[in-house]
Amino acid sequence: MTLTATETWSRLLDRARLELPEQTYRTWLEPTEALELEGDTIVVAAPDRFAADWNESKHAQYLASLAPLALGHPITIVFRVDEERKTRPQMDLFVAPPPDQARQSAPGGAPAAGVQLSTRYTFLNFVIGKSNELAAAAAQAVAAAPGKVYNPLFIYGDTGLGKTHLMQAVAHEIMQRAPQTRVCFVGTEQFTNELVGAIQKRSTPEFRRRYRETDLLLLDDVHFLKRTEATQEEFFHTFNALYEAGRQIILTSDRPPSEIPGLEARLVSRFQWGMVADIEQPDLEHRIAILQNKARLDHLELTIPDDVIRFIAEHVRSSVRELEGSLIRLLAYASLKHRDVSVSLAREALRDKLRLNGEATAEEKYALSVLSIQQLVAREFSVNVEGLRSKSRTKQLTVPRQVAMFLIREFLGLQLVEIGNAFGGRDHSTVIHSLERIDTLLAHDAPFTARVESLRKSLSDLHT
Ligand code: ADP
Ligand code: MG
Repeated sequence: MTLTATETWSRLLDRARLELPEQTYRTWLEPTEALELEGDTIVVAAPDRFAADWNESKHAQYLASLAPLALGHPITIVFRVDEERKTRPQMDLFVAPPPDQARQSAPGGAPAAGVQLSTRYTFLNFVIGKSNELAAAAAQAVAAAPGKVYNPLFIYGDTGLGKTHLMQAVAHEIMQRAPQTRVCFVGTEQFTNELVGAIQKRSTPEFRRRYRETDLLLLDDVHFLKRTEATQEEFFHTFNALYEAGRQIILTSDRPPSEIPGLEARLVSRFQWGMVADIEQPDLEHRIAILQNKARLDHLELTIPDDVIRFIAEHVRSSVRELEGSLIRLLAYASLKHRDVSVSLAREALRDKLRLNGEATAEEKYALSVLSIQQLVAREFSVNVEGLRSKSRTKQLTVPRQVAMFLIREFLGLQLVEIGNAFGGRDHSTVIHSLERIDTLLAHDAPFTARVESLRKSLSDLHT
């Protein structure tokens, strides 16, 4: 049997995801796509240069080492930037689909029972703060006395705030004490799909048995529960069977039970029988603690100075998942550029993220507008802003212009076209050329680098 490029790649990835940390997998490998297979060489597309380089240097060899087992023969992997995707915003790298969705798309579909829990999702690794203390306390109470105190435990909150983590922490804790416990962790979509499959194959009795013979049912993301009557009916009975047998049920959702659209009233009320606890966005101190914990877990505390942790915590506010993603991205960037982790490096590595988080207030935006960068650079090089924006190509103007473009890219994260527009309508290839020039100068010209550093510093001061 010969496999296509896509099949080959997905076999390798299936194997890799069993071993790699989830974040790593989601950040770097999930956004890839097999392009072609020629002999024993597979060409794989990554969404941008950075991702391609990173995969090439960090993952190509590792993935190749999986080939004999996964494919039965060795393989060479080449990463390439996907031309089509290059035109898309660079944020691609960050917007990995939620893990639940990713799990669903795993070919073959994992079996319902005995699904692996993430080893990292323990109470020990869960940082408690104001935003999640209620949910965490409830989870701990449930872990101490499953089926006795809060049944069901219903945890809700926005995506990336630790619902799945917390629910699995309960399972870890219980299983540590009682390894025989039959735990079932399942995403609601998978639950529904299995049920529909069972109905079609007329194997619902088996489906029922499987779910009812469990001591601890973790049903993740119940807001995905299908509106169909059959699904809700079946789930209702499963719920009752488990509940009456004194088995613990934990549910998560992105909203409270009463706000799940199309959820039958009898299910809404059952979901509220036990404890309904929400998780909110962590505050600054909490975000710092989470990042520190993450750094400690990964033995990174030495390489990540406190001011960098604070910088990330101050600027990335959307979710814990984003926080973790930022840290990973920053470290990857530092290693690729051979630079120490610093606030200015963080600003550079995370510029898209910072911008997308919309973190700048109107005032900050004003202070740090295109114009203010142009003015600063113009002053530094004793030229004027009109000159920078003009078509003139005298040497006196080109370098400062390129520097201004470079800093605008770094600090404001504008698209190439937008930058071109800010300089008298230059096209994007000119902008690329300019950015590359500055990169080269920064690598070879120390006095020049010092000058740019001082500009960076002034801009950071303006910004904070
Ligand atoms: P959700 O299920 O709410 O979308 P997850 O449980 O998948 O979120 O959490 C997203 C990521 O953030 C996971 O890697 C998780 O370990 C981490 N995380 C969330 N909250 C915390 C916390 N309080 N302490 C440590 N890590 C956390
Ligand atoms: Mg989740």
